[in-house]
Amino acid sequence: MAQRSRILTGDTPTGVLHLGHYVGSIENRLRLQDEYDCYFLLANMHAFTTRADQPDQIRADTIEIVKDWLACGIDPDRSTIVLQTEVPAIAELSWYFAMLLPFNRVMRNPTLKTEIDAKGLGDTYPFGFPMYSVGQCADILAFRPEWVPVGQDQVAHIEMTREVARRFDQIYCGVDSKTEDEDFERAGGVFPIPKAMVGRVGRLVGTDGKQKMSKSLNNAIFLSDPPNVVKKKVGQIYTGRQSMTEAGDIDNALFQWVRAFIRDEERVKELEDRYSRGDNIGDGHVKAEIADAINTLLDPIRTRRARYDTPGGEDVVIDVIRSGTRRANEIAEQTLYMAKSAMGLDFGRRTLSGP
Ligand code: ATP
Ligand code: MG
Repeated sequence: MAQRSRILTGDTPTGVLHLGHYVGSIENRLRLQDEYDCYFLLANMHAFTTRADQPDQIRADTIEIVKDWLACGIDPDRSTIVLQTEVPAIAELSWYFAMLLPFNRVMRNPTLKTEIDAKGLGDTYPFGFPMYSVGQCADILAFRPEWVPVGQDQVAHIEMTREVARRFDQIYCGVDSKTEDEDFERAGGVFPIPKAMVGRVGRLVGTDGKQKMSKSLNNAIFLSDPPNVVKKKVGQIYTGRQSMTEAGDIDNALFQWVRAFIRDEERVKELEDRYSRGDNIGDGHVKAEIADAINTLLDPIRTRRARYDTPGGEDVVIDVIRSGTRRANEIAEQTLYMAKSAMGLDFGRRTLSGP
């Protein structure tokens, strides 16, 4: 059987998963589990960039994110779950890649700039914060994937990853600078030039109606929120509209949610039409329909999640992490060996022994 192309993506345990993750990336992961060899990374090392003083919370969120994944339908028999801190090749590749990226190029990365602003990091963020964007190039390239399913905010990181891959292949593998992106491996490069795959909703706005929904910004509806909390949070979306007869803006946050979660297109059109004309329809009506649609989406996820929210649940999760990470290390070690050999660092191939 021909080898399947690989996919790599992941989430940082700075909290648990929310609806933005679902529409931005998880839907694609679920859809592609059969067609591709999928690797899903828990970026727990990167969680320390903003939470170095909260190791217990990082550990707890790591476990909870795996529960979220399993609850959504990520199947550990088909897909590989990878714990970043147990894949040494990623940390090593990060160093080599850091040499290929000018400092100013990293600091100009628009995703980093937005995050520094949105998270209020000011100028006191640790050195490791910008370093995480370099590390993310290594997370991805360690698996030499074809696709990286992500939300819109990550596209700038993927662009940087593509630059690093090209530079590495050109400098160390003699790939000609005129080579087309899809031909880099065929031309002798260690790394393919991976492509971002942005989900159905690339940027789901948060309940604040402004910023993207984010674990760290207190504007998220979590996949693990119970139905009444979903209702309450949807109720908080602010539009500024005053009455049921005021013509509404169908590009506002509320209608972004209508289109994201109400899957009956006829109904979406009808709501858009009535709202834009102010045809006796209150924000409250629309919010109630959105909350119902979200709860319908989350109900089966809640049922599956309950299986892991049991006394033995954490052990199951840890087993899934261990076995996945063992499989992941086979690929990542192979990549590291290929990369180091290309760099003249071919002083023998090590073997990892571990759990
Ligand atoms: P943090 O606030 O810590 O950065 P986050 O909510 O942005 O957390 P990440 O772990 O950084 O979550 O992102 C995981 C994946 O989910 C990425 O592919 C990202 O692009 C996607 N994603 C995150 N938020 C959204 C959103 N609001 N809409 C669509 N995709 C999203
Ligand atoms: Mg983020």
